[in-house]
Amino acid sequence: VRAPLLQLTEAGLYCPRGDFYIDPLKTVPRAVITHGHSDHARPGMGAYLCHHDSIPVLQHRFRGRGIFDGLAYNERRVVNGVTISLHPAGHIIGSAQIRIEADDEVWVVSGDYKRQLDPLAPAFEPLRCNVFITESTFGLPIFHWPHVDEVMHQVHAWWQGNIQRDVISMVQAYPLGKAQRLLFLLDRSIGPIYLHASVAEMYVALRSSGINLPDAEILTASTTREQLRTALVITPGMSDAFNLGATEIAMASGWMAVRSMRQRSSSGLGFVLSDHVDWPDLHRTIDETQAETVYVTHGYEDDVVRYLHEQGNDAHPLAHLSIARRY
Ligand SMILES: [Zn+2]
Repeated sequence: VRAPLLQLTEAGLYCPRGDFYIDPLKTVPRAVITHGHSDHARPGMGAYLCHHDSIPVLQHRFRGRGIFDGLAYNERRVVNGVTISLHPAGHIIGSAQIRIEADDEVWVVSGDYKRQLDPLAPAFEPLRCNVFITESTFGLPIFHWPHVDEVMHQVHAWWQGNIQRDVISMVQAYPLGKAQRLLFLLDRSIGPIYLHASVAEMYVALRSSGINLPDAEILTASTTREQLRTALVITPGMSDAFNLGATEIAMASGWMAVRSMRQRSSSGLGFVLSDHVDWPDLHRTIDETQAETVYVTHGYEDDVVRYLHEQGNDAHPLAHLSIARRY
């Protein structure tokens, strides 16, 4: 019996045969990174392997520090006899599933992923594998996303209503991923679009690295209420830093499917727009992998595992993948 292709260690998922880590939690010599969000990509690793489009994100986040090696989707890299390839995860720019193959055994680490439209992330590619490690951020049956077009119609109607009532529209969105996705998805009649300074930082970094993003203005202390009369502002937080007067903030997130979360926003409104799979897409994806074993992480592990058991699948929380090596 050979050791499993991946093990869970204190530093995160480790491939002993290839001697590399996936989205490591601690400082390690070699890191393979699924995507640029801070709960997956951390500074201080010896070397990074990731998709080409993740490099500007990581360089911006780590202030240029790090050694980065980029792969295209479907390109293969052999490390100590283990073949690594990255495949579209559909989550944010540069996001990838990591496929690992050795001795005819294939493991796939999903990272974060979704099956809905994202102009900056190529569509998720289902991969057949022996073992699939899936996220489960929204792994409950209550999470069932509306169609993106329907959500964008809701945003449009809300913005129009706000103009009539002389209220400034602000959409709260995560600065990496959601903010850029919104820029592409917002109806072209909405404008100008303003970015809060902390959203603008990532926008400028991506644009200056050659990534094509729609035009937007940057919100500053001198931006006036009059300039924002027909605008839509994308902001990371709830705070109204510039004291602009009557403003409504509505969050764009999968969590807005939960009423109690919606009610925390100033408008009592939220838009159900997620960069993660909902419950039906999670299980459709697991089925498509035809994996013999599924490990579940990052969310509702127990609920997803219980459901998979009921369906007759071999499934475990990722924490059960033994800690075989202390780093
Ligand atoms: Zn993410």
